Amino acid sequence: MRTLDFQAAGVSPPMETLDKALGPGNELKGRPRTLIERLFERYLKCLGRPDLVRKSRYFSGAPGKPIETAYRQTYKGKRIYGVRQSLQKLVGNRCPSCGGSRPTELDHHLAKTDYPEFSVLPINLVPYCGGCNGKKSDRQVADPEKAFIHPYLDIVPDVPYLTVAIQQNASVTAQIAFDANAALGSDLLKKRMAHQFETVDVPTQLASEIVEFLEEHADNIAGAGLPDGAPVSSYLASTADRVAARLGHSFWKVAILRALAADAVFCAGGYKALLKP
Ligand SMILES: [Zn+2]
Repeated sequence: MRTLDFQAAGVSPPMETLDKALGPGNELKGRPRTLIERLFERYLKCLGRPDLVRKSRYFSGAPGKPIETAYRQTYKGKRIYGVRQSLQKLVGNRCPSCGGSRPTELDHHLAKTDYPEFSVLPINLVPYCGGCNGKKSDRQVADPEKAFIHPYLDIVPDVPYLTVAIQQNASVTAQIAFDANAALGSDLLKKRMAHQFETVDVPTQLASEIVEFLEEHADNIAGAGLPDGAPVSSYLASTADRVAARLGHSFWKVAILRALAADAVFCAGGYKALLKP
């Protein structure tokens, strides 16, 4: 869970996007236009929080349908596909929810079933991996502690928030968990992140990537990647620093590298259990 600079995506202003999505001649006019402009402003003011943004009675009815349908215009080859492309570029190859590598789906931060008025509002569209998208509820939640993090509007400090338990027996495993003592500043933010971590089940989401990651580093240590005589722990710690500088201190790979660097058994040769024969 992290903060992304939405402005950097460079998508068109919301009303322009909506007009384009609805198509020539179908743009909202008069009072509905004023109303949706106000709803967009309210969305920003409430930081897209489902416990604060009220559902619109007007757009929950028939007038919301064409907007909900206009979401299809974000698909490849359609009128506002550029929005999807820009957001995917902004997110890169890291799901903003779990940190996994395939954020290929577009999630409606506020679900379009409850909020059709925000179906094509770019700031409401977040690329997620399939797992996170599937596990996020598509219903409105009233409890502020259960509001998912809005990667464009919430501010998540770049501090470590994962604990990692390294276990070694026949092989080596790294079990990640949400750190209840993370220095996130706000108690509500921490509760929301802990809830999201559990809901999307981050450890399961990342399970296969974690195995690959451990094997990759065991290979690096055993192979030519390590200068002669360099301590394994220094290699792991400096790799963690490098990854953190690029992708943030809260990134799961950084947390795992730091835990491995601090694990004497792993550094003294425990990594060999990960090497393929
Ligand atoms: Zn994910």
